[in-house]
Amino acid sequence: MPTPAELTDWDLRHFWHSFTQMSEYEPMVIERAEGSWLVDVHGRRYLDGVSSLWCNLLGHRHPRIEAAIVEQLGKLPHATTLGMSNVPAVELSRRLAELAPGELNRVFYASDGSCAVEAALKIAFQYWLQCPTPRQGKTKYLAYDSAYHGDTLGSTAVGGIERFHALYKPLLFDVLRLPPPDARLGDASHHLALLERALHRHHEEVAALVIEPLLQGAAGMVLQPPGYLRGVRELTRRYDVLLIADEIVTGFCRTGRMFACEHEGVTPDLLCLGKSITSGTLPLAATIASDEIYAAFLGDYASGCTFHHGHTYAGNPLAAAAACATLDVIADERVLEETVPRLAEKMARVLAPLRDHAHVADVRQMGTIAGVELCSDRDGGIAYPANQRHGYRVAKQATSQGVWLRPLGDVVVVMPPLSINDAELELLGHVLRESIDAICQ
Ligand SMILES: *Cc1c(COP(=O)(O)O)cnc(C)c1O
Repeated sequence: MPTPAELTDWDLRHFWHSFTQMSEYEPMVIERAEGSWLVDVHGRRYLDGVSSLWCNLLGHRHPRIEAAIVEQLGKLPHATTLGMSNVPAVELSRRLAELAPGELNRVFYASDGSCAVEAALKIAFQYWLQCPTPRQGKTKYLAYDSAYHGDTLGSTAVGGIERFHALYKPLLFDVLRLPPPDARLGDASHHLALLERALHRHHEEVAALVIEPLLQGAAGMVLQPPGYLRGVRELTRRYDVLLIADEIVTGFCRTGRMFACEHEGVTPDLLCLGKSITSGTLPLAATIASDEIYAAFLGDYASGCTFHHGHTYAGNPLAAAAACATLDVIADERVLEETVPRLAEKMARVLAPLRDHAHVADVRQMGTIAGVELCSDRDGGIAYPANQRHGYRVAKQATSQGVWLRPLGDVVVVMPPLSINDAELELLGHVLRESIDAICQ
């Protein structure tokens, strides 16, 4: 076994971490985890305040998910899904189709959320070429400023976070943009009027609109006004534009429904899922298409209407078994009915005192997803200069106190695994408050 010192050294020398400025990276090498806690190679324990980047739904090392993976490992770790199938992926497909709203019945797999979005973009484009009344001109997408849909080139193109995406502009296809549907900037009718204007002008060239329903995650857990998503569905339908719902953050109970679209009774044409789908155990993502979309891809092989797209590990049986077990636990442990409402209410209570803090501009919460936005002066509505990195420093301070947080700019995300208990949540709230007090002046 390598020593902790060796691991730390090799980490620094050879491991290039995602979204990390490596010149300032301080190694934190995790060796194991249990429930809501991560344990590093030195035996230091950290409360996982962001569900290992929003994917660990039910807590680390959930025995039922672990058992399902181990059982599957003894049968079939992997076989391709190009032209053949495997048992857990078949079962998962049936169950996702049953859970997804409306006629979303056809499940296409990938291993990362970005690739689920990428598939949705290509499916939408190809649909318009192959549907009963083809529309050659529909080659563009409508997307939002501040959106985040992943880091492959297509998903980057529909993203709208300057800090992540601006640099790559020369590589990206053009996207028609709308301002973020932020509830603070206007109500549903205000934002819907902007959308209608864009659709009125451009609908003939737009294949699909891409949206993170109800909240923009990476923008800083920014909430949308009630009624907006429903209006988006009505307008996209009226103007013959497909609706791609990116529920990679919001899917699987986090917002209080299985999928966020259900809050507004909306069925998108394509639904992208990832992150919580295996409760943070194995990489898996899915794009679920409606029967109508799927039908446009059926025909003689020679007609060329096949979806020529896919990934080597798509529909991996271990990951699919983990996803099936996640769905079992959600149903059997009454996660949607009991765990989520209870935790959401407790999170609201723990975060409430921060609303009065002189350096907190806003506390936003939807179900078990929350963001605490820091500011220089709450009453004057003044943000901190971004380069002072208050969010980063607050999270670092919290980590030094045993609570692992990772911010989005000056928004500190609070999104613990659903396994978190009252005492752990109190600890998280306490450490967050002390960290804000220590860093923000
Ligand atoms: C994380 C995320 C993605 C990308 O998923 P990856 O698995 O990281 O590729 C896409 N969309 C949203 C809304 C996300 O939060």
